[in-house]
Amino acid sequence: MTSFHDFKPQDLIFLEPLYRKIKINTQMSLEDSYETVYEEPGEEPIHVYSLTNYLHNKDITFLKRLVTGSIDTYYYCPECEKEVYINSERVPLDKEFQDDVIASFPRPTSHEESVFYAEEAETSFKKYIRHFFDKYLDQSNTFTRHLVCTASKKHKITITFRISRDMYIEKIGQFPAVYSFDNKAHQYKKILTKENRNELNKAIGLKTHGNGVGAYVYLRRVFERLLHEKIDEAFVSDNTELQKVKKYRIEDKISAVKHFLPEFLVNNSFLYNILSKGIHELSEEECLSYFEPVKEAILVILEEDYEKDRRASFQKELGTELSNIHAKMKND
Ligand SMILES: [Zn+2]
Repeated sequence: MTSFHDFKPQDLIFLEPLYRKIKINTQMSLEDSYETVYEEPGEEPIHVYSLTNYLHNKDITFLKRLVTGSIDTYYYCPECEKEVYINSERVPLDKEFQDDVIASFPRPTSHEESVFYAEEAETSFKKYIRHFFDKYLDQSNTFTRHLVCTASKKHKITITFRISRDMYIEKIGQFPAVYSFDNKAHQYKKILTKENRNELNKAIGLKTHGNGVGAYVYLRRVFERLLHEKIDEAFVSDNTELQKVKKYRIEDKISAVKHFLPEFLVNNSFLYNILSKGIHELSEEECLSYFEPVKEAILVILEEDYEKDRRASFQKELGTELSNIHAKMKND
């Protein structure tokens, strides 16, 4: 499992699904501090032991940063529909929380003393956390970060997290919704119809909330719609055949237009079996586990269309450029 401090703050802010609990580690670490003393100039220095420091860990450092640090990042803004600079509202970190050292003691001279110091440090740490929570969390143990897109100050983003007493953090609210920051669907905006884009986003959104059947319904609709676009394209000049193919089962529809589909899809027949099954035959778990491969398959179709589209416009531009050169040469 990923440690809390291994997350990127911007991913926790924008992409972390709601209600997933992440453990915050509360183990302290020990560090001895030394003083360096030179008895005679030019002689080897002596390290004189001074104190044992009890420090909090990386998870706590990361938590302080998530609660108060500036989260200024280049990220996808769902309202601008492109990557822009997004800045967080400033929340100053109080002086008392700036140090990582929770407590310091002289070197223990006995086992009893070291146990005593460890207990004292533990008490100080609990106090430290309690103070921090009192200062930055509201009465329901939540904190909210406000961010704003720099391209338009009107695009505001609000994220709320909750920290439980047993030190689990979870995101409990986000506006705009989590799925709208997943820009994969947006990347294909140019080649996706508005209807498909909305439904793909809805599917990703429902999946984010663990709603497998709902997510799968939308995903399947997008897939079928894309497939029908291919069928329309393939039989554009043969209406009789078109009407016939439209009545086929999914597997047969796919093989009827296989030259218009990515090879990957044609070779992965298991996907059609999944798609052919009625939603009522699939359980919530099954829908969730099929979601990613089905979504990826849709993205593969889009990727290929996107590439074709890109290549076509590149060739068109290149053609114009070449004929300009040609015209210029004739005039010279
Ligand atoms: Zn924006």
